[in-house]
Amino acid sequence: MREGREDVSPTTEDPVELANRKPDPYRHILVALDFTPHSSHALALALARALELVRLHDSKLSLIHAVENSFYPDLGYDPLMIDPGEFAELDQQIHDQAVLRMEQLAKSLDYADVQHDVLWGTPKSAVLSYAEAQKVDLIVVGSHGRHGIAKLLGSTAVAIVHSARCDVFVVRLAE
Ligand code: AMP
Repeated sequence: MREGREDVSPTTEDPVELANRKPDPYRHILVALDFTPHSSHALALALARALELVRLHDSKLSLIHAVENSFYPDLGYDPLMIDPGEFAELDQQIHDQAVLRMEQLAKSLDYADVQHDVLWGTPKSAVLSYAEAQKVDLIVVGSHGRHGIAKLLGSTAVAIVHSARCDVFVVRLAE
């Protein structure tokens, strides 16, 4: 799943020589973390793999989690008159909890060069835009999470593998 990281044009170099050459180390590894209740085992497996890789490559580690704004229709005509502001407040609470959780997690890791962020948006767009902006060269995702528990690859993992402009490491999570 290597894409666009190095120029490996087969016409310019002998493939055997290329295969035997030591690749550039990863400089910045990003782990996309899903904080849903059933995902703690998955989260631990993805983190364990990422920690192994950052130690091996002596790279920077970033942990990110995305929080999506709730979808709510225009309820102006609804007799219950649910205030859209309540959705926004709830979303903000979810975001704040994720920030706390992320801080605790980052502190608990036995690795110094860790940065973390909780971003607004879909997991796909948050991961891809963060990776581009922060010059991430490897993204670590679980094979499934909230959206893909019944599938081999979750929709987020598939979307990231398809669209990322760097390598993607998919940690296979048991069903
Ligand atoms: P899913 O598409 O829900 O099956 O999730 C597959 C993988 O995408 C998870 O194992 C995580 O690595 C990542 N992921 C899912 N949801 C989020 C999220 N809200 N924030 C960051 N990464 C996520």
